[in-house]
Amino acid sequence: MRHSEEKVAEALKVITEYKEDILKLYVTEYTCACCRANKIERLYPNHIPFLKQEQDSWKNGTVSLLTPGFGSKHDMEGYYIGICDECISTLKEKGLIKNKELINPQIRIINSIF
Ligand SMILES: [Zn+2]
Repeated sequence: MRHSEEKVAEALKVITEYKEDILKLYVTEYTCACCRANKIERLYPNHIPFLKQEQDSWKNGTVSLLTPGFGSKHDMEGYYIGICDECISTLKEKGLIKNKELINPQIRIINSIF
C-alpha cells in the first residue's frame, strides 16, 4: 500500500515535533555534579545530537555517559553527568581521575604479551 505525499509529510511533521520536544526536555544545560555550581551548556544549541549527548560539544565542561557495570548496585542503569572544566582540572591535579591516554598504551602492551 502506498501512502499519499500528504500522509508522509504529516508523519514527518509529527516525528520532527516529537524529536524537538524530546531534545527540549532531556538535552538541556547541566549543573556540574562536582562543584554543583558551574553550568555546562551546549555549544551548538541547534545541533541535534540525538541522545548521544556525550558526543556533543559543550561549553565550560563536558557531559559523559555513566554506565555502571556488574558489581555496582547501579548495574544496568545509565546516566548523563556534567562536569565543568574547572573541576576536571582540580580532579586531575589531585589524581582523582585517571588519564585514559596514559593508561591505554600500557594496557595494549600487557595485552600483546598474553
Ligand atoms: Zn564544577
